[in-house]
Amino acid sequence: TVILGIESSCDDTSAAVIRGNKILSNIAATQQVHNEYGGVVPELASRAHQQNIIPVVSKALIQANIQQKDISAVGFTRGPGLLGSLLVGTSFAKSLAMSLQVPLIEVNHLQAHILAHFIEDANIMPPKFPFLCLTVSGGHTMIVLVKDYFQMQIIGKTIDDAAGEAFDKIGKILQLDYPAGPIIDRMAKEGDPLRFSFSKAKMENYDYSFSGVKTSVLYFIQKLLKEDPTFIQSNIYDLCASVQKTIIDSLMVKLEKASEELGVKEVAIAGGVSANSFLRAEMKKREETLGWNTYIPKFEYTTDNAAMIAMVASLKFERGEFCDLDVSAAARYDLIQDFTK
Ligand code: ATP
Ligand code: FE
Repeated sequence: TVILGIESSCDDTSAAVIRGNKILSNIAATQQVHNEYGGVVPELASRAHQQNIIPVVSKALIQANIQQKDISAVGFTRGPGLLGSLLVGTSFAKSLAMSLQVPLIEVNHLQAHILAHFIEDANIMPPKFPFLCLTVSGGHTMIVLVKDYFQMQIIGKTIDDAAGEAFDKIGKILQLDYPAGPIIDRMAKEGDPLRFSFSKAKMENYDYSFSGVKTSVLYFIQKLLKEDPTFIQSNIYDLCASVQKTIIDSLMVKLEKASEELGVKEVAIAGGVSANSFLRAEMKKREETLGWNTYIPKFEYTTDNAAMIAMVASLKFERGEFCDLDVSAAARYDLIQDFTK
């Protein structure tokens, strides 16, 4: 079976072709229009998706060396995400499924971030159930206990900002471009992570809170800018390294606690922030120190991509889980949510 996957939940228009669990192509058009605004502008995002979707899908088919008639099903991101963005992918997927007379498969974007670990790769072993997955992206931060492909339980989550959001908002305070996560990662490599310390909130159970770190950085920067207007520029590397360490350390503390208390040593990371090199290194370290088996996604499957959508569609195809053509996009769509129609 050959399945086309479509992702349009935020600002990347992406299409991928999967055969079985093997990706044949994974194409994305990243939108540059948002950079000057310091964040994604929803109206501009949906318009850009509208322009990108056909060329991106065509490219994905060409690169996979398949034709429309080879497609066995169409999978698409139903949510969560920006409604106007989701509507473009949803409408396109429906129309294509209808015209090709093939099944339509709806995919939860968050499940997809996690299940990207099952994309077949000669060099990477997929995780064994049950495993813990630290799911860290621009909109979500949670520890998920994955008992089976579609049996997931949220163990803990952020009560305010997501980890990616924290990177981006603190990056804005540090006068970096959007999205700041990858920039902080790069600059942190040249800096001293112990130079500055920022207070972080102590949370109950396995929950997270990141808005306190942001406020702590903001006050600190405001105070020091008064003394030295070039403070940010002259300390940017140390600032990035220290901010990154603060965020990643607090992610790891709760993940370790969950692993220990639940007795699960299979531990994965997923979502855009799982691209972070310091987080990846901290995970690897736990193989030695705590005996974990860690699962770190390939770089191209960390931030938004259609390969992960095609992967979930492929799993659902095997189960015969198709959806009706009257399905609608869902801006809010929990990791585990039952839409009873
Ligand atoms: P969600 O999946 O919750 O709906 P999203 O799809 O917008 O949100 P992703 O595309 O999964 O989020 O991730 C984007 C986020 O990942 C951004 O906040 C970005 O700054 C962050 N990010 C990407 N690369 C890195 C990195 N190397 N280090 C830290 N953060 C990063
Ligand atoms: Fe995402």
